[in-house]
Amino acid sequence: MKIKYYLIITLFICLSACKNDKQTDVNSSESISKISELKITPIEHATMVLEYDGKTIYVDPTGGKEAFINFPKADFILITDIHSDHMHLNTIESLDLDSAKIIAPEAVAEKLPKGIRLKTTSMINGSKEDFKTFSVEAIPMYNLREEALKFHPKGRGNGYVLTFGKERIYISGDTEDIPEMRKLQNIDKAFICINLPYTMTVESAADAIFSFKPKQVYPYHYRGTDGYSDVENFKSIINSKTKDIEIVQLDWYPNDNEK
Ligand code: ZN
Repeated sequence: MKIKYYLIITLFICLSACKNDKQTDVNSSESISKISELKITPIEHATMVLEYDGKTIYVDPTGGKEAFINFPKADFILITDIHSDHMHLNTIESLDLDSAKIIAPEAVAEKLPKGIRLKTTSMINGSKEDFKTFSVEAIPMYNLREEALKFHPKGRGNGYVLTFGKERIYISGDTEDIPEMRKLQNIDKAFICINLPYTMTVESAADAIFSFKPKQVYPYHYRGTDGYSDVENFKSIINSKTKDIEIVQLDWYPNDNEK
């Protein structure tokens, strides 16, 4: 009889524990979904603002401080390369950098004024850093075509994979469809440059996408010397081969008359 009671009590305790576990699970997944909402706002060309868990990240800020008046001041500034569509010194110096940490390749860091350089974490290709709000992996970015090698030599600039919670965001920087891009894994959102003569063709960009298969692709940095790359063609190449990759078109050139 005693054993029977013991079994019933044990069963009751187990059931209550399971119930509590479930409640905890629901609560924790709710709080995760609240903080994992990444907000992306394009500013222009390669410049964007990311907001996550109360922190604000400016990516390749250009356009002066006016371009950022609708956003909180930067907690992080991410810079990919030395060209002025990525590292715009006047813009950087015009911003409130009180609480900003800057993340940049060494080639960028050494061009920053000393006061700003002191706030900079310089990263080399392949390195990783954890900034609590997100972690950063520096991915190489460089040209492959003979005639374009002069634009982006290997080792100078950084593309980045940013991890927010479980979401992995790839920002290509200025690059062609390099092996390091092609072998990326588990990318949720990929920002892919497509412009000539500086980065890559529509066909190379689409081919790279088929190789690493991000869930969503954000074409960006697609204004070249002869106008815009044919992003519609890029979309149709992807869509004709798979329905598993979503193309997300944002307004990257709000200030241009030609669209
Ligand atoms: Zn560029």
